[in-house]
Amino acid sequence: MSAIVEPVMGTPFPQSLSPSRTGDFLTCPLMYRLKTIDQLPTAPSAAAVRGTLVHEVLERLFNVAPAERTVEEAQRLAVISWQDLCQSDPDAAKTLIPEGHDSVASALHISHVLSPVLPLLETYFAMEDPGRLEPHARELALSVALEKDFTIRGFVDRVDRSPEGLIRIVDYKTGKSPSATFEAKAMFQMRFYALAWWRMTDEVPTQLQLMYLGNGEFVRYAPTADDLIATERKILAIRDAISRAGDQQDFKATPSRLCGWCDFKQFCPEFGGIVPPLPPREEWLSGSSRVTVALDFALNAALPPENSVREGSI
Ligand code: SF4
Repeated sequence: MSAIVEPVMGTPFPQSLSPSRTGDFLTCPLMYRLKTIDQLPTAPSAAAVRGTLVHEVLERLFNVAPAERTVEEAQRLAVISWQDLCQSDPDAAKTLIPEGHDSVASALHISHVLSPVLPLLETYFAMEDPGRLEPHARELALSVALEKDFTIRGFVDRVDRSPEGLIRIVDYKTGKSPSATFEAKAMFQMRFYALAWWRMTDEVPTQLQLMYLGNGEFVRYAPTADDLIATERKILAIRDAISRAGDQQDFKATPSRLCGWCDFKQFCPEFGGIVPPLPPREEWLSGSSRVTVALDFALNAALPPENSVREGSI
């Protein structure tokens, strides 16, 4: 018979959620706890670091004049971004260099590191012409309170605004477009951003666009206010579930095939590990406290009137 655990009340928890933390809890409450409450470190994966490099290049690309936004310029920026990463985060950079090599800054590694990155950038150029775009915002931090003591937040890769004022939220993915199950997960992330945008600006975005650079496919969705109200209800329900798990000190291990990517197997009873004691409630955090909202808008991005749901462009 399991022991009765007295609910532990205190400061409301969680006080904020991002799409990734929400996804963690839905995948496995124990993983959410170990990452968010215990704040155990996670090792950078090569795929994640490669994704960061690609995002960095696409972010920097829009700093140059439209006519200079070419594949060659993107390749040049990829080299600069790699060199910067070697300086700023050598541990992350090491995930991309060949085994047995210590010096991340070696020029010998550049072709090895960039060989999987450059095709993704070429695919990006096949999907759209950045010379015709002037993003409204890039790497935009969204943060808005849905209720007292509860904020949703996230980072949007890009926001476009058409001359007519239509808003498109864009997210780059470096993998291939997923199955319907995982596509729903990715689109939940986009609805999450759309809800935050709506609550901050009173504008329902016209289009949510995922760009899968792994196979050149777009996934697009036109949200409605009703969709976003339903998304808000879902987020609040997940918040309540997390709150209950916290009050009961009960974050269940929920194994799935995603365990293969979990950093916490050594602490997981499903893999013979021992769960560490919960930190004191007053030390629980809700994750990152980055709340800066950089509504640094350029004007009049080109936004073609597209309504298709899924479209391969190459
Ligand atoms: S290994 Fe699986 S069950 Fe265990 S914490 Fe990680 S995701 Fe959860």
